[in-house]
Amino acid sequence: MRKNTVLISGASIAGPALAYWLHRHGFAVTVVERAPGIRPGGHAVDIRGVAKDVCARMGVMPAITRARVHEEGFAWVDANGRRTSEMPATLAGGEAIVAEYEILRGDLADILHDLTRSDVEYRFGDRITALADGADGVKVEFRSGRAEVYDLVVGADGVHSGVRGLAFGPEQRFIKQLGAYTAYFTMPAQPDLDPHWFLMHGVPGGRCAGIRPENERTAKAMLTFRSAGHAVDPRDVEGQKRLLAQVYAGDGWRVPAMLDAMWDAPDFYFDVVGQVRMPHWTSGRVALLGDAGYCASPISGLGTSLSLVGAYVLAGELAAAGGEHVPAFAAYEEQMRGYVEQCQKLPPGGVNGMLPMSAAAIRLRDVSTRVMTRRPFSRLLQIQAGKADAVTLKAY
Ligand SMILES: Cc1cc2nc3c(=O)[nH]c(=O)nc-3n(C[C@H](O)[C@H](O)[C@H](O)COP(=O)(O)OP(=O)(O)OC[C@H]3O[C@@H](n4cnc5c(N)ncnc54)[C@H](O)[C@@H]3O)c2cc1C
Repeated sequence: MRKNTVLISGASIAGPALAYWLHRHGFAVTVVERAPGIRPGGHAVDIRGVAKDVCARMGVMPAITRARVHEEGFAWVDANGRRTSEMPATLAGGEAIVAEYEILRGDLADILHDLTRSDVEYRFGDRITALADGADGVKVEFRSGRAEVYDLVVGADGVHSGVRGLAFGPEQRFIKQLGAYTAYFTMPAQPDLDPHWFLMHGVPGGRCAGIRPENERTAKAMLTFRSAGHAVDPRDVEGQKRLLAQVYAGDGWRVPAMLDAMWDAPDFYFDVVGQVRMPHWTSGRVALLGDAGYCASPISGLGTSLSLVGAYVLAGELAAAGGEHVPAFAAYEEQMRGYVEQCQKLPPGGVNGMLPMSAAAIRLRDVSTRVMTRRPFSRLLQIQAGKADAVTLKAY
């Protein structure tokens, strides 16, 4: 019997996770990724709530446990590196801002790719340029010149999803900017920094710089700043670096070392901090998954969990409906809607909490961090627990 064919665009987290489940349910899967290989880079992402069950059902929990970052928490530091407040990872049973399961995004992408590479066809260095959705399938054209027909196409290609652009419309209609930009990249290790803590330095004006020690040679750098309406071209990497150099010029702590390292970083990543809000994630034979359909933003700490759970539900509903996309897509939308809405609710303070504008607001943030980490207030930090569990996994 002919297998149903599914083309997935994007090979980060959502794409390979969906590929795993679709293959397991008997679909023939192709993944196309614009980058020349699995993209390295990013900081730690969280696996929370029901997403842990999904990973357990995929059999990847041992690999995740081996690779997870062993962080004792995060601390705010002043320009001289002195700690002003801190939040231990053990608070609130691992359901506070620092999660129990945190893993570098690149490591998780590698684990999911390794899990699927022998069963799924990966095509790197290519992308979809045209989609024509018809009664018998979707005719797809690729940048490489190929043209093929698939039963279904899924966009798992992130906030700036190409599939969404082709099948649903321009991204301005769907991306809700939260007023900040963020950059992640690898920098040389800072041997004198505590290797067990993620250290962050906030500056009036809404700028923050963070360093997460990685090993003896490298550390992960993060620069997140409030945007005063900067126009940033998502394809102009040199322009993004020039903007960071300008925005952070004159800042203290390790910022000069971070800016030096940024120019040659092998895995520089820069993007708007935003959410994707859409009334529907499916149209005809095309569906969106993960950040492409419902990015919750890095501030939520729930984007990776959403994409892992979304992959499980989408593949499961397609299998349950015998590959019939109309009932399967309706069930996917129905199951995911409430969970996505929960996960898109930002932690208290949102962007303001992370990027205060004044010295007084920074001091207030330190005071409230210190108070919140004391009992009985630390219970209030279980802000992620209910959200990350806001869906019940069916057995497919
Ligand atoms: C390099 C990188 C670093 C990141 N770092 C962090 C981080 O530190 N913290 C955090 O919270 N989140 C980070 N994210 C986002 C995080 O991975 C997602 O929020 C979450 O895991 C959901 O993943 P996703 O697979 O839906 O989307 P993404 O992880 O954004 O992956 C989308 C994938 O699609 C590919 N792609 C994009 N356009 C096309 C196209 N037209 N055709 C084919 N492929 C395409 C991209 O190259 C990428 O591999 C990062 C994403 C990337 C790509």
